[in-house]
Amino acid sequence: MDGVLESGVIGAGQAGLSTSYHLRRLGVDHVVLDADERPGGAWQHRWDSLSMDDVHGVADLPGSPAPGRGSDPANRVVPAWFADYEARYDLPVLRPVAVDRVTSEGELLVVHAGDRSWRSRTLVNATGTWRTPFVPYYPGAGDFRGEQLHASQYPGADAFVGRRVLVVGGGASAVQLLGEIALVTDTLWVTRRPPVWRTGDFDREAGRAAVALVEERVRRGLPPASVVSVTGLALREQEREAERRGAYRRLPVFERIEPDGVRWPDGRFEPVDVILWATGFRPSIAHLAPLRLRSRHGGIRLDGTTAVADPRVQLVGYGPSASTIGANRAGRAAALAVARRLDAASVDTLTA
Ligand SMILES: Cc1cc2nc3c(=O)[nH]c(=O)nc-3n(C[C@H](O)[C@H](O)[C@H](O)COP(=O)(O)OP(=O)(O)OC[C@H]3O[C@@H](n4cnc5c(N)ncnc54)[C@H](O)[C@@H]3O)c2cc1C
Repeated sequence: MDGVLESGVIGAGQAGLSTSYHLRRLGVDHVVLDADERPGGAWQHRWDSLSMDDVHGVADLPGSPAPGRGSDPANRVVPAWFADYEARYDLPVLRPVAVDRVTSEGELLVVHAGDRSWRSRTLVNATGTWRTPFVPYYPGAGDFRGEQLHASQYPGADAFVGRRVLVVGGGASAVQLLGEIALVTDTLWVTRRPPVWRTGDFDREAGRAAVALVEERVRRGLPPASVVSVTGLALREQEREAERRGAYRRLPVFERIEPDGVRWPDGRFEPVDVILWATGFRPSIAHLAPLRLRSRHGGIRLDGTTAVADPRVQLVGYGPSASTIGANRAGRAAALAVARRLDAASVDTLTA
């Protein structure tokens, strides 16, 4: 264990990099601990067929405009941009460092990663959601004889040729993956609610309203809902053929999983070989458990980016800031909150 840092940032995705940039400018001594082998945050793990044309839009980082659209894969373009950014601003990123827990020792926070640890006066958590894919529980799931995988493990459509694939989930990922898989094999689509199709451009007003809704949830300490899922679903040109083949005729949720397929409450049975769960993610925050930040409602109550239960801790890319634009803005807010907290603490020390 070295000396005491003014701040520790966990995660070097859009949220962590934006935070680190602003901490640097504010002269706050910090490190950024990142679990991945390479720069790129979650973007380096996106499936190969997700191009820069396919993403909703990646926000700028402070001092560096985002790469433009195009057919190049997002999992190469964005990580290259992040790598360049880290180098250009000389951000103090250490990797691979997978933080397993953060504890409190008196005034200080201790960040543990295996047998290494860092002591810090403040903490900014920027760990995103990619490492905690969410798969809902269905009776019988353990007895399924076929393959089950989450969208985060999507190997490309060719891996499913000759097998009947059930895609579960009503978000943009499900639509995109069906658009590819339905061209090479038989598919079924199940969503909890009927999908909401958007015909024109993304409605910014609706986007702002959705962010406000998630903000209100985290202010009350409820688990955050997804911001990026509120943009409505749109079919792109490359999905039209899948649409003609009936890939977007959605079925309601089944009741149980059986060894060779799924069954609905009315007795209907569909045999399937693969269940692909496009059912989203949850915040990757298990390492914060010792700090007991969760409210009795199950979420972490925030005031801006500051954890109400422990104001030494900021959360960015969480709840209303779980989008690239949100993460970027939250990084600035968190860095300012850290600087204010350090200033207040030093005044306290001087006057004590
Ligand atoms: C398929 C898909 C497409 C998307 N498209 C868009 C889009 O077009 N536009 C948009 O605005 N948003 C989009 N989003 C959401 C957007 O990607 C995220 O909100 C944003 O990139 C998250 O940035 P982040 O910095 O919070 O997290 P991440 O990019 O996930 O970075 C988190 C970092 O934290 C590290 N980490 C995690 N846990 C630990 C730990 N315990 N210890 C150390 N390090 C850790 C990880 O290694 C990672 O580098 C999309 C999401 C998905 C799944």
